[in-house]
Amino acid sequence: MPKFSVLIIEDENKIQTFMGKILKRHDYRVLCSSTGREALEIIRSQCPDIILLDLGLPDMDGSSVIREVRTWSSTPIIVISARTAEMEKVNSLDLGADDYITKPFGTSELLARIRASLRHSNRLRTDNDLYIRAYKHGAMTLDFSKRLLTIDAKAVHLTPIEYKIVAYLAQNSGKVITYSSLLSNVWGPYTDGDNKILRVNMANIRRKIEKDPAQPEYIFTEVGVGYRMAEDE
Ligand code: CA
Repeated sequence: MPKFSVLIIEDENKIQTFMGKILKRHDYRVLCSSTGREALEIIRSQCPDIILLDLGLPDMDGSSVIREVRTWSSTPIIVISARTAEMEKVNSLDLGADDYITKPFGTSELLARIRASLRHSNRLRTDNDLYIRAYKHGAMTLDFSKRLLTIDAKAVHLTPIEYKIVAYLAQNSGKVITYSSLLSNVWGPYTDGDNKILRVNMANIRRKIEKDPAQPEYIFTEVGVGYRMAEDE
């Protein structure tokens, strides 16, 4: 089995070393860069399978790296971000980053994010049945061909809008979806960008699918950014 390669773009030595060690131990091939310029060269010459990107780099803004890479490559990019930087997260996702991870993070979270992004990019490349195959997590199954959501094999009645929201999140499970991306995918490109309608619908969805809507098992809130649906099993 060829190893997946991960490029870590991070100028803080400690964090770069910490991530490198974890990834090597889990059988990834690790490439490192502490500047944006060098990173772009490595991406061109080595074509890593996934990119971990710190936004605060000494020579250029990390968002410029995303913009540049996205002109010619769809390699998954996970942004490493500070806890309170919601706007930064939203901007990165809108520029084409696939996900973000918030500092400080643990080993299992880092590995889970990488697996989800790799799975997602592989699926997009190879699995045309993505939208046909049912989504499954815990007691929930979403059958896209029948437009049927069941929990513990019992059908859950969703309105057409609620179904669209859940289906879009399920098709992108494991990834965070921004409010604006969800709004335009469900209501079309001419929405006024008001999240209120989304929050109202989400509250109704949670009442129908979650045992305890305050402690969701299926759809998680990413504060100030959007929603993330539990990864497909
Ligand atoms: Ca930095």
